[in-house]
Amino acid sequence: MDNTGESGRKLTETAGENVPATVSNLDSHWPEILDTVRQRVGHQTFQTWYRPLAPLAGDAGGLQVSCPNHFFLDWFSEHQLHHLNDAGTAYFGHEVLFELVVSNEVVKLGVPGPEAAPAPETVVSRPAATTVPVETIVMPERPQTNLNPDYVFSNFVVGSGTDLAYAAATAISDNPGHHFNPLFIHGGVGLGKTHLMQAIGNRIAIQRPQARILYTTAENFMNDLVKSIQESHTPDFKLRYRSVDVLLVDDVAFMAGKESTQEEFFHTFNALYNFKKQIVFTSDRSPKEITRLEERLRSRFEWGLITDIQPPNLETRIAILRRKVDINNIYIADDVIEFIAEHITDNIRRLEGALVRLLAFASLTGREITLEMASEALSSFFQGTSTGPVKIADVMEVTADVHGFSVDQLKSKRRTQDLARARQIAMHLARELTGASLNKIGRSFGNRDHSTVAYACKKISDEMETDPRFRGAVRDLMERIRKRS
Ligand code: ADP
Ligand code: MG
Repeated sequence: MDNTGESGRKLTETAGENVPATVSNLDSHWPEILDTVRQRVGHQTFQTWYRPLAPLAGDAGGLQVSCPNHFFLDWFSEHQLHHLNDAGTAYFGHEVLFELVVSNEVVKLGVPGPEAAPAPETVVSRPAATTVPVETIVMPERPQTNLNPDYVFSNFVVGSGTDLAYAAATAISDNPGHHFNPLFIHGGVGLGKTHLMQAIGNRIAIQRPQARILYTTAENFMNDLVKSIQESHTPDFKLRYRSVDVLLVDDVAFMAGKESTQEEFFHTFNALYNFKKQIVFTSDRSPKEITRLEERLRSRFEWGLITDIQPPNLETRIAILRRKVDINNIYIADDVIEFIAEHITDNIRRLEGALVRLLAFASLTGREITLEMASEALSSFFQGTSTGPVKIADVMEVTADVHGFSVDQLKSKRRTQDLARARQIAMHLARELTGASLNKIGRSFGNRDHSTVAYACKKISDEMETDPRFRGAVRDLMERIRKRS
């Protein structure tokens, strides 16, 4: 109360000694109560925790104030409410106690507001039934909707590999938080996961302008967390992620092995899920295939609907190219489009890349786009489709390293259990990634027989078939090896 003496006195005089603390006039006293609080708690805390509050008028209860959500309510009650009570007490000149109410529950109580109550679905994001303008109760430091406006459903070509994911995505956009929560979309690189996920956000944003939609990648989430810890702003961090209506988290496999991130995300998930906020995940693999993931988080990923997306077939690839050409108002003959679609089979981003390259080539050379010209312009691009050749030596080095052995040990005759297993995995990967013959692989692994290699390949692929986690681990290894070559 150090610096409230003067203002407290002034306020008391203004308000009169015996101002009844009824809700019907709390509204008119609120700005001055806030002034008192601001002096006590400082600007940053004030912005974070007091801007979102709004006095409730018209209720016969006590001094009721609305806040955005339960997380806010809990945190505020524990850390800030006493400041508010003190400020109110100083202002009115007698002890008062404030009560916080979650804003969307205010509507359920039927408290009349200055405007017609919004439709039930929109209530979730909007403190209604208050007497202050809506702008003043927007969440603090609310992240801007950072969605790419091009990633909408109408730009997404549905094929047999994406029809289920597409159906689920549109269903939850129309009714977020009810069906399929969370929605987990997984599939290979460049197949449209981010596009679909953001299309959900874009559609919800149009249908429910007040909904708070947050798109983030798992990597961003982690960086934000680290930053908030470094700067001691963890409450702000928690509030930012827990006060949204729709949370879109891209590439969650990134969380593998990052324990603190998983821990924090687990609580974020629970906070949102419990209040039926829609959550969407994408990943390059299914939850079961993500290694080094806490079991409780894995199970949350699996609670809703898991859907995969598969590479498009030829017809879909042609349709996607046509759509891109139409959107950009250019003309490219059918045979050229088919030519591109035949050559790039497993990545739509590369399909787009080929088109861009073709157009660039045409404009630089001034040549007409014909089949012949396309094959000239794109030949090197097509060659780049597969990554550089992987060597057996790369496979051995990375596999040995990951398992804590040396390459010499992999080649040796020793057969301790762990070493034999690492050797089998390496043989399988050598076969998969280099395409070398069984004989050649056998020779590289300390002159072993081709039947030994064949046995190892079969054993490992059988195990991958039945054990998704093992499959995930082997896939991780594959990626590491590919990155080296
Ligand atoms: P991912 O997140 O799976 O790696 P993206 O969503 O980033 O893939 O998609 C890569 C590019 O391909 C984006 O530009 C996206 O718009 C486009 N794309 C992917 N799938 C489709 C589709 N079915 N129809 C149209 N464009 C697509
Ligand atoms: Mg993506």
